[in-house]
Amino acid sequence: MTQPSEREVTRSVQDYLKTIYKLQGDGPVQTSALAEQMRVAPPSATNMVARLAEAGFLRHTPYKGAELTDAGAGIALEVIRHHRLWELFLHRALGVPIDRLHDEAERLEHELSDELEERIARALGEPTLDPHGDPIPSREGEVDATAFPALADLPIGMPAIIRRVPDNDPGFLRYLESLDLLPGATVAQRAREPFRGPITLDVGGVERVIGYELASRVRVEAVTTKA
Ligand SMILES: [Zn+2]
Repeated sequence: MTQPSEREVTRSVQDYLKTIYKLQGDGPVQTSALAEQMRVAPPSATNMVARLAEAGFLRHTPYKGAELTDAGAGIALEVIRHHRLWELFLHRALGVPIDRLHDEAERLEHELSDELEERIARALGEPTLDPHGDPIPSREGEVDATAFPALADLPIGMPAIIRRVPDNDPGFLRYLESLDLLPGATVAQRAREPFRGPITLDVGGVERVIGYELASRVRVEAVTTKA
């Protein structure tokens, strides 16, 4: 899906487009929100938004925000595909721990030839999910938008499988790993205290007590027993 012109897109442009893509799930993206996410001063983000609009990657409406055009979204999705393929490859093929994947992929996502992308995708069996449970966009830029409820909201006693964890917080991921709370694990709430208090979990037969905040950042799919 790479056109020759995309090769000239700088790393910084790729990062902005990727970030706008992730933010625009909630509607047009304000420059202030973009600046915060990119950790730059607001004027830098304003400049870049103007440049990206001029290049045809987004439309910017004053007081409303920025929205990616198809061309902008296409580049964002390709970078995200690279990122998530790298994460899975580093994890499966090289045994890189889950808390290290995101930072490594942040660098590598900008450097992936079409040929290597194909080889990695094939070697991994055309995967659709990265190790954090985030969907890997297809070559055509299609992405699975399934949303899963938070572990914190799971009814007591209902078994569920962990589907998604945040990808960019190493300390949080190490803690989740120490509790065996990574994608694929089976969990159920045994008890929970009111007012966002501690939640007692059954994790594969082992009892674990976690905080509400942690449980709200982990996404699960309830296991409904077949009739
Ligand atoms: Zn990541």
